[in-house]
Amino acid sequence: ENGPMRVLVTGGAGFIGSALARHLVLDLGASVLVVDKLTYAGDRRNLAACEGKPGFSFLQADICDADAMRGAMGAFRPDAIAHLAAESHVDRSITGAAPFIHTNITGTFTMLEAARAHWESLDAAGRAAFRFLHVSTDEVFGSLGPDDAAFSETTAYDPRSPYSSSKAASDHLARAWHHTYGLPVLVTNCSNNYGPFHFPEKLIPLVLLNALEGKPLPVYGKGDNIRDWLFVEDHARALATALGRGEPGETYCVGGRSERRNLEVVETICDVLDASAPPLADGRPRRQLITFVADRPGHDHRYAIDAAKAERELGWLPRETFESGLRRTVEWYLANEWWWRPLRDKRYAGERLGLPATK
Ligand code: NAD
Repeated sequence: ENGPMRVLVTGGAGFIGSALARHLVLDLGASVLVVDKLTYAGDRRNLAACEGKPGFSFLQADICDADAMRGAMGAFRPDAIAHLAAESHVDRSITGAAPFIHTNITGTFTMLEAARAHWESLDAAGRAAFRFLHVSTDEVFGSLGPDDAAFSETTAYDPRSPYSSSKAASDHLARAWHHTYGLPVLVTNCSNNYGPFHFPEKLIPLVLLNALEGKPLPVYGKGDNIRDWLFVEDHARALATALGRGEPGETYCVGGRSERRNLEVVETICDVLDASAPPLADGRPRRQLITFVADRPGHDHRYAIDAAKAERELGWLPRETFESGLRRTVEWYLANEWWWRPLRDKRYAGERLGLPATK
């Protein structure tokens, strides 16, 4: 995990970007410039552990702003870019796709062009060492049947939601900038993440906090959709490892080999909370809070990732199982009410209870 020393992280105030920034700054001693627009999903409190550390800086800017991106690269002179800024919530993409098209597609194009200009200004050694890491999702591959083989680097693209189709478009752009201009691009496609600092509109933190407070636990359909879960700090280590060891032009599928039905995920959260948090006022087991709601339109049935190439070529392995990662996540939410309370009170207290999410 010998990550490069100067990394520009877009979306670094978000869930995964902040985990990567914390890993680069605190564990690997890298210099990091976080570039983030601070949309509803971005929060500088996610970077509190990095503030004031040598080499850490933050720029509030939009990745669609070409002048700002060129300016940031000219001033910071990164030797790698980890591009995570995106609109990321599937349900929001169904009710309003415009920001997904703008940020995920136009924003990635703008980053690639700014990165190309910066890369072309480097000397030969700098150009050879430079990396542009485009961080994407397994949702670009579509949906699996129960007996299908897991997604891998050779799976054909078949995105089905406004979110996943905008990410698919951005993946194609990133690869095209490698093939056309030689920009040293890496692409990672990762399965569903969970862990600390996960915005409380997503399935795991929403269910965790509702279960803590004795509120209904909304589950789409019959809860039999399957996702492959990865602890966010394992993803952050995979990204740093890809920056250090990844081959330009290559794609790496990243996942935790932890396929779970949504209902199983919700039940596990209930059981962990029953064992570690105060009991509900009426003494009921938390599983009794589960409420089935109408399914999401076009809901993909199953995602699963075959991470064998990343394991083999990057030497990366997840450290957490789903159960150990979930226990760490529950512990973190129990200990960090300062972080989630304002987000829940402001926007997600009651009105979104009927709008659960798997991502
Ligand atoms: P997130 O929504 O928590 O964070 C996104 C960040 O990007 C926020 O800080 C937001 O302020 C910022 N941002 C949004 N639009 C911007 C713009 N125009 N300019 C600058 N900054 C902007 O998302 P996340 O879950 O951390 O996901 C990060 C990346 O990883 C995304 O590209 C996503 O597609 C990908 N990914 C996510 C998952 C997952 O399970 N969450 C899995 C695989 C891949």
